[in-house]
Amino acid sequence: MPASSAMEQTLAICKPDSVKRNLVGQILGQIEASGLQIKALKRLTLTRRQAEAFYDVHKERPFFSSLCDYMTSGPVVVAALEGERAIERWRELMGATDPAKAAEGTIRKKFGQNIEQNAVHGSDAKETAAREIAFFFSGIELAG
Ligand code: UDP
Ligand code: MG
Repeated sequence: MPASSAMEQTLAICKPDSVKRNLVGQILGQIEASGLQIKALKRLTLTRRQAEAFYDVHKERPFFSSLCDYMTSGPVVVAALEGERAIERWRELMGATDPAKAAEGTIRKKFGQNIEQNAVHGSDAKETAAREIAFFFSGIELAG
């Protein structure tokens, strides 16, 4: 659990396009430079079933099938981040979903290729952050 009530945890994913292009170090470096702490970290390849479960909220959207194809196209690197207002700070650092609309200096502006292959994922609220962190990490992995 976060150390104080002002502290939050959020989930970050370096998506398959980032891993393929060796951008993980730069992305994690930008996270650390912002002051957010990496609490847990691992690389894995999602199965189709896991990708569909993770993005369940989007299952009725037209991009769902293509998104799941993309997210299973290669390994991802997932991280649990911690800091004050971590959820909002990580969303700001990522930039808008569409890299073409993302602000200068954001990760999606720098590294995103299109609205689907947009380099990174970030949780959007406290409830989703808790669900998404628990999806990938066990209590013992978050204990450090
Ligand atoms: N996505 C897509 N087409 C769209 C919108 C989203 O392929 O029109 C993909 C994109 O990879 C995005 C993910 O689906 O990151 C989840 O969409 P969401 O609206 O939750 O955006 P995010 O929270 O990632 O900014
Ligand atoms: Mg989202």
